[in-house]
Amino acid sequence: MNQEYIEIRGARENNLKDVSLRIPKRQITIFTGVSGSGKSSIVFDTIASESQRLLNENFSMFVRNFLPRIPQPDADAIENLSMAVIVDQKRLGGGAHSTMGTITDIAPILRLLYSRVGQPYAGKANAFSFNDQQGMCPECNGMGRKLGVDMEKALDLSKSLKEGAILLPDYGVDSWDWNICTQSGLFDIDKKLADYTEVEMEQLLYGKPHKVEMHVGGKPVKFTLEGIIAKFSGKYIKQDVKTKSERTQKMVAPFITEGPCYLCRGARLSQAALSCKINGSNIAELSSMEVGRLIEVIKEIKDPIAAPMVKALTERLQHLVDIGLEYLSLDRETDTLSGGESQRVKMVKHLSGSLVDVVYIFDEPSVGLHPRDVHRLNELLQKLRDKGNTVIVVEHDPDVIQVADHIVDVGPFAGSRGGTIVYEGSFSGLLQVDTLTGNHMKQSMPLKDHFRSATGKLSVKDANLHNLNNVNVDIPTGVLTVVTGVAGSGKSTLINEVFLQEHPDAIVIDQAAVGTSTRSNPATYTGIMDDVRKAFASANKVNPGLFSFNSKGACENCQGLGVVYTDLAFLDSVKTTCEICGGKRFKEEVLAYKLGDKSIADVLEMTVEQALSFFDIKEVVRKLQAMSDVGLDYLKLGQPLSTLSGGECQRIKLASELHKKGSIYVMDEPTTGLHMSDIAHLLAIMNRLVDAGNTVIVIEHNLDVIRNADWIIDMGPEGGINGGKVIFEGTPKQLLSAKHSLTSKYLSR
Ligand code: ADP
Ligand code: ADP
Ligand code: ZN
Ligand code: ZN
Repeated sequence: MNQEYIEIRGARENNLKDVSLRIPKRQITIFTGVSGSGKSSIVFDTIASESQRLLNENFSMFVRNFLPRIPQPDADAIENLSMAVIVDQKRLGGGAHSTMGTITDIAPILRLLYSRVGQPYAGKANAFSFNDQQGMCPECNGMGRKLGVDMEKALDLSKSLKEGAILLPDYGVDSWDWNICTQSGLFDIDKKLADYTEVEMEQLLYGKPHKVEMHVGGKPVKFTLEGIIAKFSGKYIKQDVKTKSERTQKMVAPFITEGPCYLCRGARLSQAALSCKINGSNIAELSSMEVGRLIEVIKEIKDPIAAPMVKALTERLQHLVDIGLEYLSLDRETDTLSGGESQRVKMVKHLSGSLVDVVYIFDEPSVGLHPRDVHRLNELLQKLRDKGNTVIVVEHDPDVIQVADHIVDVGPFAGSRGGTIVYEGSFSGLLQVDTLTGNHMKQSMPLKDHFRSATGKLSVKDANLHNLNNVNVDIPTGVLTVVTGVAGSGKSTLINEVFLQEHPDAIVIDQAAVGTSTRSNPATYTGIMDDVRKAFASANKVNPGLFSFNSKGACENCQGLGVVYTDLAFLDSVKTTCEICGGKRFKEEVLAYKLGDKSIADVLEMTVEQALSFFDIKEVVRKLQAMSDVGLDYLKLGQPLSTLSGGECQRIKLASELHKKGSIYVMDEPTTGLHMSDIAHLLAIMNRLVDAGNTVIVIEHNLDVIRNADWIIDMGPEGGINGGKVIFEGTPKQLLSAKHSLTSKYLSR
């Protein structure tokens, strides 16, 4: 047994065919291969899963009862595995109280710094935490946001009080409150609100309670007049509006909006904390600065007491800069980060840690990174290795693959035609072998020289969201447009937020999970199942409903799931194959009905490819062909959708939308999870969509996709405040001679 390797023998998870391999310890090993070839089955379902199981075994039986039960991976042996840390693209949840600063452990150091050298002294470190009773703004409880009155909806400034300038409920002309207000003598009721002075406005909106005498039925009666906003807030916002009648809730809802807290102005902290400063800035100001600038400000703090904190802060902030996240700020809420950003933030957390001899596992860490920034990622992977850790990466980007100390190429193809190791060795060796990866590393796609002409345009005007800086841009219709630019330059803000807001009819092909029902699978999702049911029904002269998972034709024991979940006291429920139907999901009598020589269960076991040669029903063939076209021919028709990766989800959505015409398609990094050879496939589909009269808009970093565009919109020049502009619009050929574009530089390389 060699201690210098993690050794895996006879692995058989999913499509793996008795795979054996050795992964060198304290080196970078990169797994390559077409999607569906079995990379994740080795890295996640075998290695990571075993490590997690071993970790759980260290706990007492009592503790283990609370942990998810992890079955032993299907393999003969896994040896020399140390603790594994998985750094994946799962979004960092956590709600409003989880920010970049809290998740990277930078916030506590910054608080310590303020408690030591900030002036005037405001308390110890907790007094600067918005998650702590002492430090939080009492008005918004540290949320920084608060429900308030939407002023634009509450007032019509072009009218006078007499004409009904107050639009809030209860203040209609001649209403009780309107009478009190107009008869109070405090206001000029004929003057347009637009002409009110600041003092008059303050009195109207927030004025202290004031007694007003009115005549009711001839008798003088005293009433209280209160600022209209103050009164509305007291009545409908400070008290939980949910306790009011449904009618009232409906009536007031349009006037209530969430905005920055008026006391802390979004800074989340108490006034004492906010008045404590270092070099003229308070902690909230530093937290809202972009990390790239913050690091410079921190370096300016020369107080010797601060030295250790300044050192720790600079080191951690530098990690964020190194990984290309200098455009984010510490107060950014983690649930607004993209998948790629989330993965890089997690990476930083580990770089600052002191763990050694850990196995780090990354899932396509280059996602979301511009070619310019990929070398930074490589340096970080190398840093982790040099600290004495084993680094395992699943990756498709040739620029990352080349830093591997060791490469494992999985293939030769996907699904049942994959599941073996086709190459193991050095990067230079990969270039010599005849595998899909080896061949594609040697060539790059040529730049297109014929560009389609636009049939029209979709304009975005004066966009200013996030970092966008008065962006005006025309997106051509009837062509393939690729939006490029470094991470944080504003691509998603422009397309996914501003553009989609104005074009809700666009078809968005994203990577979010498809379907949540445990019974959904590619056949049900694409609608193939309906036609298949009908075919079985007419061939056997029975009701099509019999062939549905939730009909009386389904196995009663497992209700058509094929598996049974058994709840055990204290233990996680255990999933076992249904003993009645043996996983076939249907009753014996239903399985006896055949189409050709296949039962409904046999059909669900077919891959898309097998089904294509079996069926000759026009609609079914069309849908199967669409799945095959997007590179999913290895999927089984009955494979639960919950087992698909993000990239696979994106492609199955694409397949089911392929036949539409005259639509706008928006795709965000569709090459995620795709091997270089799959990208040619994807491009063919995009071209088909455009040729059929659709408009396709893609956010991409992949150079092959950029080379195939008809039109490029390049955002930049940098990320964050130094980005947010359109710096180039034109064909890829014109981009080559664009002076200030980083994308241009990498395209011509
Ligand atoms: P890669 O990571 O190379 O894209 P995977 O290891 O995810 O490939 O998948 C290999 C094969 O196993 C594919 O055919 C995939 O559809 C199948 N597969 C993956 N996960 C499951 C699962 N939980 N159940 C059934 N099949 C699966
Ligand atoms: P790209 O898609 O080019 O990577 P984004 O559009 O995601 O860029 O981000 C552009 C800028 O807007 C960045 O400075 C980013 O930090 C900021 N930003 C993006 N989303 C949010 C958000 N939900 N809240 C605050 N700032 C955001
Ligand atoms: Zn507040
Ligand atoms: Zn069953």
